[in-house]
Amino acid sequence: MGMLAVEWLSRLGVGELVVVDPDRVEPTNLTRLPGARSLDAMSILTNADFPEWMRTLGRKLSTHKVNVAKRIARQAGQGTKVSAHAVDARDQGAAEALASCDYIVLAADSAVARHLANIISHQYLIPMIQVGVKVPVDDAGKVGSVFAVWRPVTPDSGCLRCAELIDRSKLAVEADPNEQQRRAADYGTGQPAPSVISLNAIAVSHAITRVLFALTGLNEDLGPSHVRVYPRQQVQRAVSPRKDPACPVCGDRGLIALGDLVPLPLPRP
Ligand SMILES: [Zn+2]
Repeated sequence: MGMLAVEWLSRLGVGELVVVDPDRVEPTNLTRLPGARSLDAMSILTNADFPEWMRTLGRKLSTHKVNVAKRIARQAGQGTKVSAHAVDARDQGAAEALASCDYIVLAADSAVARHLANIISHQYLIPMIQVGVKVPVDDAGKVGSVFAVWRPVTPDSGCLRCAELIDRSKLAVEADPNEQQRRAADYGTGQPAPSVISLNAIAVSHAITRVLFALTGLNEDLGPSHVRVYPRQQVQRAVSPRKDPACPVCGDRGLIALGDLVPLPLPRP
């Protein structure tokens, strides 16, 4: 979803984008990654029928997603500078770059990325918008109520933690330095969640339009509601965000506006 945001923000003429993503392009990404090519995914080497050594080589030679982001911003021709960080968001340089932004678009599913972005947004008073899509599929393979969602986050609106959007157990496992354990948490049963580019576009389109209005002063009073669109039913629902006064991030004794006074929760180098 982040690549759609990069594509559109570049064409809207944003001056600089900080893009953080540790992943490389994989063949399974090509259906939903604008600007990515078969060569970026090294599809000629990573076919499931090929020997493991060849697929490992293909994965090593495949393009980092942040470099695809750089390319599509350049091709947009509006002079957007891309500061690319092919690392986990908890990297010191990446986290500091995020803390210097005017607006954060959060398209990451990982709990550590959500947790850190939530803190940076409040600690450095940076408005944020989180985007997501859910395609529920039951054990029998039946698709349920598909929805796309965008959730604005401001210091006074209630945070992602209060909205129970940061899974604590997932956060604990992901923060473990054991990479294999972290990867297992990312992918659960090994079946990635279904992802469809047109559904992603619904959430990202609304989010980027909101960013556009915010940056150009065109925002009417949009309010802090989290908005879900259910395309199968053609229904849109707004949910008021929750705010817990005791929240360690957005609560009365939280991190709001503390800036550099408290360190970010990053692993020691
Ligand atoms: Zn909170």
